[in-house]
Amino acid sequence: MKKFLLARSSKLLSSFRLTVIAALFITFFLSPIPAAAQEQPNYPVYVVESGDTLNSIALKFGVTTTDILQINSIDNPNIIPVGAELKIPGYEGISGKLTTRAVELGETIETISDRYCLPLDILLRLNKLVSPEEIFTGSELIVPVDSENTPFNSSLIGSGGISPLEASILNKENPRLLTIIHPVESGWQFLPNELAFLNLPGDGKFANPIAREITAFDINPLPLVQGDTIVLSLQTDQSAQLTGALNGKPLNFFSPGANQYFALQGIHAMAEPGLADFSISGKFANGREFSFSQKLVIKAGVFSKDPVLYVDPETINPENTKPEEELIQSKIKDATPEKKWDGLFKLPVDEPFCIYSYFGNRRSYNGGEYKYFHTGLDFGVCATLNIYAPAAGTVVFAGPQTVRGNLVLIDHGWGVYSGFYHMNDILVQVGDVVEAGSLLGTIGDTGRVTGPHLHYEIWVNGVQVNPETWIFDRTYP
Ligand SMILES: [Zn+2]
Repeated sequence: MKKFLLARSSKLLSSFRLTVIAALFITFFLSPIPAAAQEQPNYPVYVVESGDTLNSIALKFGVTTTDILQINSIDNPNIIPVGAELKIPGYEGISGKLTTRAVELGETIETISDRYCLPLDILLRLNKLVSPEEIFTGSELIVPVDSENTPFNSSLIGSGGISPLEASILNKENPRLLTIIHPVESGWQFLPNELAFLNLPGDGKFANPIAREITAFDINPLPLVQGDTIVLSLQTDQSAQLTGALNGKPLNFFSPGANQYFALQGIHAMAEPGLADFSISGKFANGREFSFSQKLVIKAGVFSKDPVLYVDPETINPENTKPEEELIQSKIKDATPEKKWDGLFKLPVDEPFCIYSYFGNRRSYNGGEYKYFHTGLDFGVCATLNIYAPAAGTVVFAGPQTVRGNLVLIDHGWGVYSGFYHMNDILVQVGDVVEAGSLLGTIGDTGRVTGPHLHYEIWVNGVQVNPETWIFDRTYP
């Protein structure tokens, strides 16, 4: 008969552990013990995968290759076949097969500990983690799996005051099955947003660990990369009010369809690589609230270093540049509720186009530190001088400035703006509604420039992003 188990965060898990311990006792007293087994310590094993080397395995588990060779009595380290079971030293008290798996969005070390029936302290020790704070989306965790201790294949989330049976009906699970597996604590009720793991026949189904009302949740792309545009998308089973923050920036959520939510966020081109904070919270139409936070990795983008630029020092003096920056910031800060673009952004110039300088290039002025970056994409004059709107929107600024010269800013909705600098003629004015392809003006050499070109910029929720992904790669959201 197939055994079904239900693990609950701590209470039920401990009763489950008791069962396992009892089972071990029985096995212990009934089986004859081979003499050798009494002396040999128990090691967990790792099954060699294709592409593994002795070095990579040693690195993965933080042990030395010598130790692995020694305890596995391997003479020739060059012959370690795929599928071989290697004993791994240094993990006394842990048994089973060691596998690695990535932490998924919405998971915490606690939910992984529950799912694999592993006490939290063992999971932390196994992964050489001092605190649960150290894990983040995408981090690789070592998890032991053995025949006694297979991971649960399903989960469901309860709301306060309902029983697992009621929850199972709400989640369209098989209620009869849950009555079979859960006769023990009939008085047990879920806490709000409590996640329970269970084994169901077949492939199983995992509830979104953040909230039962969230049917799909995605942050794309991950890991976060400097200069990228990040899309958060949520599908819920009822309307929701959402707030959140990513890397210190408050998110703006928009709902283009029933129970569908999006937030777009730019990652600063010079954001510190490492871990970024992500948090989301909200309230559903049914009155239930949730909040969740997780660390996400920020990786450095691939940007080149421009040669040192020599300019009139007055043009980089913050006293002179700050008022202009503040003016631009004030024009691009609002996230207006209507998304006006559709599909890829069109090229802002005629073809054939030529790019003079790419987004994100690191810059030094007059031999100083490389603490600046190129905030847009520079198009040279290779066809006509015409500059076009890349997508529909409303002109929010049109006029001259010292550094950026004659410039136009367009609001495309949802916190997305495009900017066109160093123009010669400006053919639009504030308040004009433009379409993709509307003529905005001509390429010029006004402001801080060394020659005529169009500096083209895209802002996403207050941060300049790489325009190339908007033109060539991806439709947002
Ligand atoms: Zn530029």
